[in-house]
Amino acid sequence: MVDRVFSAWFRWLGGAPCFRIYGKARPEADWHIIDVFATHRRNSGSSWPAPFFRGTCITWTSQVIAVGWDFAESVLREQADDPASRDRPVAVAGGRIGDWKRRVAAGASSQTSACEVLAHECGHTGQVRRLGVAYWPIGGTLTLFREGPHWYNRFENQASEEGLFGGIVNGSVCAELMERLQRPATEE
Ligand SMILES: [Zn+2]
Repeated sequence: MVDRVFSAWFRWLGGAPCFRIYGKARPEADWHIIDVFATHRRNSGSSWPAPFFRGTCITWTSQVIAVGWDFAESVLREQADDPASRDRPVAVAGGRIGDWKRRVAAGASSQTSACEVLAHECGHTGQVRRLGVAYWPIGGTLTLFREGPHWYNRFENQASEEGLFGGIVNGSVCAELMERLQRPATEE
């Protein structure tokens, strides 16, 4: 209920999403439609060590993920090359965004793609659906610890292990993002 109210509130605040995606956590049977909102505040500025790391994305509710415009653009470019679908979703390689050894051991690139970061956020949307209002205090505290071997890393680990990004909903990409895509790629 609270999750629904907040989702409606974010939609009202954020206007139109830059696109919509299908997402779920592995244990869930059904796919969910999630609004991805882009804000300039979340663009990768000089203060971020990596262009699109977790700092640039946040899952607000089970239906709302906020990202930077440049991150949204990266997702779209990756999807243009290799589109995901609900039959062929993107998961976080090796179940970790930040553990390159585990990623390489799983046969993946040590570099995390934007779509994998989005899959991680989809894992958080599953946590919201399971935890309800408890998500905000838990998520707000434990995401600070990121992935790792300790109990307090479990929240982030789980998002990386369970999150699935099932592609962009047809026709949902906003005009501003389509226009950005026509321009040459921003440095990544
Ligand atoms: Zn996270």
